[in-house]
Amino acid sequence: MARFPTPPPAHRREFVTDLTRQARTALSSILGYSEILGEELGVSRPELVSDLSSIRQAGEDLVGIIDALELRVDNERRRATVDVLTGLFNRRYLIEVGGPLLQQARERQEPLSLLIFDIDDLKLINDTLGHKAGDEVIQAIGGRAVSALRDEDTLVRLGGDEFVALLPNTSSEQAAMIIAERLRLSIGNSAIATTDGKQVAVTISAGVSTLDDANTDLAALIHAADRALLAAKRGGRDRVHFADSTDE
Ligand code: GH3
Ligand code: MG
Repeated sequence: MARFPTPPPAHRREFVTDLTRQARTALSSILGYSEILGEELGVSRPELVSDLSSIRQAGEDLVGIIDALELRVDNERRRATVDVLTGLFNRRYLIEVGGPLLQQARERQEPLSLLIFDIDDLKLINDTLGHKAGDEVIQAIGGRAVSALRDEDTLVRLGGDEFVALLPNTSSEQAAMIIAERLRLSIGNSAIATTDGKQVAVTISAGVSTLDDANTDLAALIHAADRALLAAKRGGRDRVHFADSTDE
């Protein structure tokens, strides 16, 4: 069976509006033509209109059904891009918005950087304080990261204890590193209080990469930042490393 053409999500509203307009036009044409046929047959207009009004009602009902379905699809879509534990966006969202954001930055020749950070020794926290405390640490770090980043930055929980922030209009190694350092300090500065009264000192390690000739798409930016993160871990943790060609 041929699949009905579906628009990209960003154009769904226009698509539905257009469909509705087409349906109304078709309905008007049917009504007009039926009236012509009715005149030829000598069928009285009120009788015709009462038949046709049920068609009109069916058309309106269909529009209502499309609206309700649209709403459900939007809600599902939102649910599918949110990380349940932290309430942040997830990897899927990063992929959805990251591609277009990078494309736009390239077209406008605007800088863009990407930051990956990972909680240090979360396994140890899980092993000593329990998985629930580990979950609370992940949640608290998500919250602290939101506060430390700017409104225009996109923060997602990539999975496990790893997070990614897309930093638009952030050029040089220097600007992105300043933001990453601020983030690292804001997380490591004070202990996190768990619901069972424990104080947990936590640090993060981070890797930063920037859109340039070597890193032109999201996958390349993530890969470069990931290698820089590994270098930060190897360097002793609780530090930020900028991606360079010597990371392996
Ligand atoms: P490192 O400093 O090298 O990052 O060490 P780490 O112990 O944090 O280990 P790593 O980042 O390699 O692995 C992440 C660990 O975090 C594995 C798992 O025990 C734990 N973890 C992953 N997801 C969750 C989660 O949703 N909740 C909790 N409580 N722990 C998680
Ligand atoms: Mg970790």
